[in-house]
Amino acid sequence: MNAPIRTESPELAPRCADPLDHLADRLFHEMGADGVYARTALYEDVVERLAALITRNREPNTEVMRFPPVMSRAQLEKSGYLKSFPNLLGCVCGLHGSEREINAAVSRFEAGGDWTASLSPADLVLSPAACYPVYPIAAARGRLPRGGLRFDVAADCFRREPSQHLDRLQSFRMREYVRIGTPDDVLDFRGRWMVKAQAIARDLGLAFRIDDASDPFFGRVGQMRAVSQKQQSLKFELLVPLRSEDKPTACMSFNYHQAHFGTTWGIQDANGEPAHTGCVAFGMDRLAVAMFHTHGTDLAAWPAGIREALGVAASASADGEGRR
Ligand code: ATP
Ligand code: ZN
Ligand code: MG
Repeated sequence: MNAPIRTESPELAPRCADPLDHLADRLFHEMGADGVYARTALYEDVVERLAALITRNREPNTEVMRFPPVMSRAQLEKSGYLKSFPNLLGCVCGLHGSEREINAAVSRFEAGGDWTASLSPADLVLSPAACYPVYPIAAARGRLPRGGLRFDVAADCFRREPSQHLDRLQSFRMREYVRIGTPDDVLDFRGRWMVKAQAIARDLGLAFRIDDASDPFFGRVGQMRAVSQKQQSLKFELLVPLRSEDKPTACMSFNYHQAHFGTTWGIQDANGEPAHTGCVAFGMDRLAVAMFHTHGTDLAAWPAGIREALGVAASASADGEGRR
């Protein structure tokens, strides 16, 4: 966008200054809703380079799958999402009535009225994380082979958490490595990735720390679940202090689901026990924003070691390309 984000649209609340705002002009074009942005060439170039770096770190015998931005509503319901994060879910809906009913809805709209009252839910939701669809796919293959399974998945994700902060989007890209196997398989995988992720963050010149974390479970019961998740060390995050040390931004998470998905989907490990699962998630948009905030928006001026890690040619200057 060439002008600061404006507040004319009712979708947009008044904007308060934030330390990341200086990036908006070079990285995004506004699309009329908080946390939903068109991306510039400059930004997308870095997202692609980060994705390639993550690919280069992929473990052997990992199966690649790419998911669309929507998934089966029934599958997400069965995964327990509504018990944990009902407030974040976006559901696809449509005008499913007869021709007469649909025409009536459109006429109401054209007369300045509300057509959305005629919407009803479809059998799809917007995927809130990249890994949900992989568990039923793995389950359909029968008992796990010895050594379990590894997947590399990615999706455009949606979470209904509108914000004016450029590191909290409603529509964002998530890449994940997923491990399905015995508890040891999964814990070893997560431990390896927590080490590897720090090496990647170091190569990218990002300030960071790893900390235990909890998911933002909904409501009062959710707060208790969050405490228990922390006590059991089920989730860690790689945090980058973008606006302050106190309120750092989670750019990656390292999650151990124990037997939750194995039991839900009936995945058996090689011993016939419910499989355990875990995932390491990379917030692609957060990583890109972190890179630009840390190193500036002129790729040619980034430190040589970082350009090398991302395969940016020494002479390349992406400067000026971003607005196209
Ligand atoms: P947060 O505590 O910041 O809300 P989270 O715990 O909800 O993060 P995860 O569910 O672990 O995040 O999602 C995996 C990764 O996806 C996060 O570490 C982050 O990098 C990215 N991510 C999550 N929510 C958003 C968002 N609203 N905008 C951009 N990236 C996000
Ligand atoms: Zn996951
Ligand atoms: Mg969140």
